[in-house]
Amino acid sequence: MREFARQIEQLTAFDGQGNTVRLTKLDRNTWQADACKGPLRLDAMIYCYDLSVRSAHLDDSHGFFNGTSLFLLPVGFEEHPCLLEVLPPPAEQRRNHREWQVHTSLPEAEGEPGAAPRHGFGWYRAPDYDALIDHPIEMGTPQLIRFEACGVPHEMVFTGAAPGLDLERIAEDARRICEAQIALFEPETREVPFLDSSDRYVFLTQITANSYGGLEHRASTALMISRNDLPVVGREEQTDGYRNFLGLISHEYFHTWHVKRIKPAAFAPYDLSREAHTELLWVFEGFTSYYDDLMLLRSGVVDHDAYLKLLAKNIAAVQRNPGRRKQSVAESSFDTWTRFYRQDENSPNALVSYYSKGALVALGLDITIRQTTAGRHSLDDVVRLLWNRFGRDFHRVGKGVGEHEMTALVAEATGIDTHEFMSRYVNGRDELPLEEWLSAAGHELTWEPVANTPVALDVRSRVQGEQLVLAVVYEGGNAHRAGLSANDTLVAIDHLRVRSVAELDALLARYRAGETVSVHVFRDDELREFKLTLEAPVKTACRIVPVTQEQTAAATSNP
Ligand SMILES: [Zn+2]
Repeated sequence: MREFARQIEQLTAFDGQGNTVRLTKLDRNTWQADACKGPLRLDAMIYCYDLSVRSAHLDDSHGFFNGTSLFLLPVGFEEHPCLLEVLPPPAEQRRNHREWQVHTSLPEAEGEPGAAPRHGFGWYRAPDYDALIDHPIEMGTPQLIRFEACGVPHEMVFTGAAPGLDLERIAEDARRICEAQIALFEPETREVPFLDSSDRYVFLTQITANSYGGLEHRASTALMISRNDLPVVGREEQTDGYRNFLGLISHEYFHTWHVKRIKPAAFAPYDLSREAHTELLWVFEGFTSYYDDLMLLRSGVVDHDAYLKLLAKNIAAVQRNPGRRKQSVAESSFDTWTRFYRQDENSPNALVSYYSKGALVALGLDITIRQTTAGRHSLDDVVRLLWNRFGRDFHRVGKGVGEHEMTALVAEATGIDTHEFMSRYVNGRDELPLEEWLSAAGHELTWEPVANTPVALDVRSRVQGEQLVLAVVYEGGNAHRAGLSANDTLVAIDHLRVRSVAELDALLARYRAGETVSVHVFRDDELREFKLTLEAPVKTACRIVPVTQEQTAAATSNP
């Protein structure tokens, strides 16, 4: 048998009579049990205290797990149906001894003795191992709200304290987002893609003090969000934090089609025992990151101004990092396991995000298609071709998108040749012509400095106790040219002490571009002095404004 999360603390095997059976470990994931009489039983003790969307967490208030963290795979039994019994912890181990419920898109084992009732403990069923590990389970006493999108039930489950949480508002906004996405993929039938896995879609949200993230599944998603980002009953305004939460809902729901069904060929089927490499994450995460915000606009949950601000924020994030000149989105995608998901202080200088730059490549592709075809086609046609070809009948076809197939697919969907586009912006590291693209879509992009001081160091810092530590030193910036490095502790500028960002900004406000200052830092325990010539801050923030109303409408409509 195999396991994939490496959280097992202890594993013991027994035969039909309860005698211990010897286990031999073959590699980091795999055990072999000696031959034995009767059914083999395995007892596993698993450490579950990771409050993230990726693994498992259990305390007296709730339990959450992904099947990948808990369920061993009997090798050779991949296709066999599974039954799962979920039991509640004893009352004395539950906070307030309150009754717990179970929330999951995993179907109850109807017809079996002890089958779980809706939201209850008992037996659940999965057609195979792949399905068993693709329906995370939340247990506890969360808040629940239901809505229907295109006539299909959806549930939203919120775990964690959030007084005054405006569930009705969230459900109404989520319903509009879901319906806009269903209309994009299935404009005629309005069919949802998950009814072969579950009779409903479930959003499982963990509320914390400060977190943001999500993970997609075939009929559900696990989300994490800060309570400050969620709306409160009676307060009408739409905060940036709430827009980010709506963007997260939109992103993970989009994956129900685009990743869970339409996949790179390298993920079909997915081999969990090793890292799968593909250059196509600019399509799978990039298109999703483009459409997540666009769907907020199309569904009407954000207005045009708010959408342009979200787009400008993404552009600024990509253009801030010098890494975009060293790595293409195709390379970034291929190296995700070794680099993008293992970031360090140099990552902004060395890496590009296939999420955020992928979203801008998708924007450029969308605008190029619309422009070249005089508005007859758009990226929507590409997405629908991917769905029709690879996604809708994935269970029958079992085929993913080939590594070098996108140019041909775009040509088939829209009639345009994107060889040059792909070689410059996907496989190459050319600067994205964002001003040009946005101008073609009737918008003007302007750059402005993000700092409110006349000069800047070009660093990202973090406060550590009473000290300001350089977290990132941007390549080619003032600090970098002077010889400063990441992890240097800033001590003083021109012999005046600096302990916080506010103190640093107040000091820098006294200088003008072209002046040279002395900077003292501790590198390790050694006091070092550098001469730094200050320059005007790099223009890293941007604004996008529509030039004409008419063109604005064309750029965001669904042709
Ligand atoms: Zn994603």
